[in-house]
Parts: sequence; C-alpha cells; structure tokens
Amino acid sequence: MIKEHRKLIGPFSQILTLANLPLHGTLADEAMTIIRNGGIAMENGIISAVDNYRTLAEKYPGHDYTREQVAGDIVLLPGLIDAHTHLCYAGSRANDFALRIAGISYLEIARQGGGIWQTVQSTREETSQNLEDLLIERVSRKLTRGVTTIEIKSGYGLNAEQEIRHLEIIKQVDRRHTADLVPTCLAAHLKPRDFPGNNSTYLEYLVNDLLPEIKRRNLASRIDIFVEASAFTMDEARTYLTEARRLGFDLVMHADQFTKAGSHLAAEMGILSADHLEVSGEPEIQALQRKGVICTALPGSSIGLGHTFAPARKILDANACLVIATDQNPGSAPQGDLLTQASILATFEKLSSAEVFAGITFRAAAALRLPDRGVIQEGKLADFVGFPTADYREILYQQGNMGPSMVWKNGERLL
Ligand SMILES: [Zn+2]
Repeated sequence: MIKEHRKLIGPFSQILTLANLPLHGTLADEAMTIIRNGGIAMENGIISAVDNYRTLAEKYPGHDYTREQVAGDIVLLPGLIDAHTHLCYAGSRANDFALRIAGISYLEIARQGGGIWQTVQSTREETSQNLEDLLIERVSRKLTRGVTTIEIKSGYGLNAEQEIRHLEIIKQVDRRHTADLVPTCLAAHLKPRDFPGNNSTYLEYLVNDLLPEIKRRNLASRIDIFVEASAFTMDEARTYLTEARRLGFDLVMHADQFTKAGSHLAAEMGILSADHLEVSGEPEIQALQRKGVICTALPGSSIGLGHTFAPARKILDANACLVIATDQNPGSAPQGDLLTQASILATFEKLSSAEVFAGITFRAAAALRLPDRGVIQEGKLADFVGFPTADYREILYQQGNMGPSMVWKNGERLL
C-alpha cells in the first residue's frame, strides 16, 4: 500500500528547481539550479529528494519506490501558477472586442452598457450547474497547459447573494478538480447599476452584508478592489480595504491600469499585491517596492486591449517582486494562456528566462501566500510541468507554441 504512494520519476534532461532564488529583483539565468539527467523521489504527493536520476535510483530501491520512467527529452519546471484570473463567468464579450478593434475605447464601451456590466447580467442569469461546468472546462484547459494552481476572482455577481453563489461554485470546483483553486472576492469590481446608492454606500453594504458571510462560510481569504476612474476612488478603496483588513482578509488591488490610481494607496496600506500597473511610473514602482507590495503584471489584458505592458523590467530593476498572471476574463483578456503571454511580455520588457519562470512559479506562490509550492525542492508539493525539449531556452523561444507534454499534480501524472 505504502509502496504505491512512493515513487521515483525521471530521468529528465533538465530539472529547473527554481529553489533558493530571491523573491525580489533581477535574476540571471545562470542563477538557476539546473539538474541534468535529474530525477525526483516523492512520497504521498510531496517531494522527498531531487538529484541526479541514477544517484536517486541507488538510494531509493525499486521495491520501495515505484519507477515512473520518462522517455525522450524533457525539461521539468515546477507546476505553473496563475495568480490573477476571473474565470467564473458566463457569456461572450465578442461584441466589445469588435467595437474595440474598430477604435472605441474600453471606458467608452463600459459607458455604453457593455463591459463588466454585460458579463454581470449573463453570469447572474446562468444556472449554477452551467457555471460550474464552464469553470471546470476553463480550469481543465489551464491544467493541460501546465497551470496547477489558479487564483479565481468572483466579481460578476455584485450583490451578496450572487457573489456568495459564485464563490460557492469556485469552492465546489476546487473540491472536485485536481487543480488547486484560490478564491478571491472581487465584489468591489464595479458598483452595479441596480444598486440604489453611491459607491460608498455600495462598499458599506459589502462590508456589512457580504464580507462577514464570506468569513463565516470560509469562502475566500482574499479581497480585491478595482481602483480606477470608472470603478472606485482611492478614498473609497481605503475605507473598504481597512474594513476588510479588520475582518482578517488579505488585500489585493487592481491598480494603475488606465490612470495612476491605486498604487500609492496599495503602498500606503502595505497590501499583499498590486496588479495591472500598466501606467505606473518610477514613483509608483518605488512606493510599491519600499512597502514590499508584490507587483503583478497582466500581459493578457495589454494584448486584449492593445494597451501598453506593465513596466516589468523597471519593477525588477527597482528590486521589487514581479509576478506574471493572465487576468483571464471575458472582456479585456480572453486569450488566457499564461506561457504565451509571459513569453510575449519577456520580448517587450526584456526579461530573462529565470525572471519569467520565477514570475509564474515561486513568486506567484508568494502572491497567493502558498509557501508549499512553486519550487522543486524537498518538502514541497509534487506539482510539475514537463516540456518536450532538452534545452529550457526553447520554452520561451517558442512563445507558447510548445506546450507541456507532461503535467503532475500532487505526484499524479495527468498528461
Ligand atoms: Zn483582473
């Protein structure tokens, strides 16, 4: 019985452990530990040793550790982590996209009744069963692309009943699916059109009627808010985040996407992560770095909107922590492929392979407060992604075209 839970996998052409690298600042490829002809011993889904395959085969005999032989060239990385998505929704926004490529701005489309509000309506109307099926389909697709941990925001419910329904669906899919899902409440995405009050009274309503219930049902430990001219001001956000913190939530923020709003508040409050940052300049980056706020770049929404990329190079050069996530959502970022987007960000922002891999593994794990993953190291979860090549540089070079050929979650091979 125990034998079935102990195994040795390999040999791999290269194992990039990404272990013992700093959480902040620049990373040269030479700093990465690369184990050639590597193997991994594991027990009950947890890594027990990482080393040369032959060395491990001697140390962990076949009668104790089942062999899972790998044929051909494979480069192994830790399972990828997408630290910012909006996957729980129904309906398409192809109409918005057609307007945008015809030259109409995101904010103008929102003013005309498209945008987030359109998705709120279609998601509210969808049955829980269908929402669950849609979410499972999206999560499964990510898993086949090597993403073993996924943050998922609510934020298309925008009233207590619907937000709780959507967070329950995320929790349900997390229970049923192999991938690990991290829920975040983004009820402060936008004041819904049917709320009888202003931004402040809407946020007050969330604090009184929604957040305590999320705590009570253990539906999320993270709270997000969209700080932007079209959503919430810094002052409104400050009050909301202060209350959410008092209730014990981790705080994250959509900041500096279209206007320099949010990052200074994120720094002032020392929140966990500030995401987007497309229009952040030096003062914003410096402020975030000084307060240790994780900076999450979302190249998918830059690609979807034809917008500038977050200043990822400057963020790293300022010795801040750079995470790269997809922001996958039906409006601004429908494409959703983490590896493709991270590769594209690398070419525009001049990021090293090590900086990109860090941003989608252990640095992303830090943004989700998950110290048990993101590196291939003794004691960590046996979550891995294998690419069919002998040279890790091929992975970003192929810009997402070379997908993973092997994926393990908790030591079980899925692909
Ligand atoms: Zn987002």
